[in-house]
Amino acid sequence: MDFRLTSEEEAFRQEVRDWLRDNLPKDWQEDRFTRDRDPETWNIYRGFAKKLAAKRWVAPHWPVDYGGLGLSVIQQLIFNEEMAYHQAPIGYSSIGVGWVGPTVIVYGTEEQKKKHLGAITAAEVMWCQGFSEPNAGSDLASLQTRAVRDGDDYIINGQKIWTSGAHLADWCILLARTDPEAPKHKGISYFLLDMKTPGITVRPLIDMMDNHGFNEMFFENVRIPKDCLLGQENQGWYMAATTLDFERSSIGGAVGGRRMLEEIVEYARDTRHNGKRLIDEVPVRVRLADAALEVEIGQLLSYRVASMQSRGLVPNYESSIAKLFNTDMQLRLAKAGMEIMGLYGQLEPQSKYVPLRGKFERQYLWQTGMSVGGGTPEIQRNIIAMRGLGLPRG
Ligand SMILES: Cc1cc2nc3c(=O)[nH]c(=O)nc-3n(C[C@H](O)[C@H](O)[C@H](O)COP(=O)(O)OP(=O)(O)OC[C@H]3O[C@@H](n4cnc5c(N)ncnc54)[C@H](O)[C@@H]3O)c2cc1C
Repeated sequence: MDFRLTSEEEAFRQEVRDWLRDNLPKDWQEDRFTRDRDPETWNIYRGFAKKLAAKRWVAPHWPVDYGGLGLSVIQQLIFNEEMAYHQAPIGYSSIGVGWVGPTVIVYGTEEQKKKHLGAITAAEVMWCQGFSEPNAGSDLASLQTRAVRDGDDYIINGQKIWTSGAHLADWCILLARTDPEAPKHKGISYFLLDMKTPGITVRPLIDMMDNHGFNEMFFENVRIPKDCLLGQENQGWYMAATTLDFERSSIGGAVGGRRMLEEIVEYARDTRHNGKRLIDEVPVRVRLADAALEVEIGQLLSYRVASMQSRGLVPNYESSIAKLFNTDMQLRLAKAGMEIMGLYGQLEPQSKYVPLRGKFERQYLWQTGMSVGGGTPEIQRNIIAMRGLGLPRG
């Protein structure tokens, strides 16, 4: 693989950088970790998504017919890198672009593609993902939410948990059991659910950062038309696996780590301890050198996933490797940053003594969650062992 970019690709990177310089919200502190998903912050996300939509940049690699620009996967990677490096507020469309859209492109009818992909790229809708249940996380195929066919409709009853952004979302990708008699992987269907449908209750779950990011969702006789079904009835498990492959590819980005590394290096250069610059302390230098190597490796693993996508392949254990390494790497980087700052590193963003706006402390808590979302480290290791290395099921 040739890791160098072409001159057109380099020019595209510069174009994205220039645009970001002019269009990032003025008061944006370049730090999503200091902000809650409150309505005011959400307006910033939505406003930024609208600006991207005006340039057809919500999902620039999607086909022109669906609101994209048909850019190459490598250009999309460059685009994602710049967004991550500048910590742009792209949360409004991230689930829609990252994993709903790609799954609908593979399995949707032409009508579903027109309706949903166009709305995502116009930044008109936000999506959430209703997969996990109280007793079905790692073992997702055990899910119990039921969808029962009734004439031209399905009626949904059950509960989901950890649904990120459900309190703000317009639509939801939902897994529900349609055949309780079939083996557990073979009785699940995949639905595209309008969150305004009567019978849906969303309750907040407050995370350890004290943020309202995810929720519980309850379904009581929620009636949806049969054209909300994606693909064939009882084939939902296989489509969900595709969604998770896309999800793990998106979570794996390493570039946010590069930006944090640069910030902690700058901090270590500017800060003195016992009359010496922190950056001249050997243990600090060793931590930073390790972190620099890991950021580089993480980026190459992301490139591997992107390179497969550019060849029309759906990465599988390769996404798991990138996801596992990159979430772990970002967690170690956040920890290294906090330790380099000493006790100040543990302060929260509101403290007047906090260095670097409390970003490393926030990142440490955030990445702990990220390592679980989309499948825990143990589950990623199982996938790598079985599908990557061909080892027998443990
Ligand atoms: C920040 C965040 C956001 C999330 N957003 C969403 C969302 O939007 N939509 C959604 O549907 N879900 C979401 N989730 C849920 C997430 O997918 C689940 O938490 C995850 O799949 C783990 O499931 P669980 O919590 O039920 O843990 P469990 O599956 O109960 O796992 C508990 C422990 O047992 C281990 N374990 C389980 N099975 C095995 C095995 N076979 N081998 C080895 N170890 C095993 C796990 O690794 C873990 O350490 C989110 C989670 C987080 C943290």
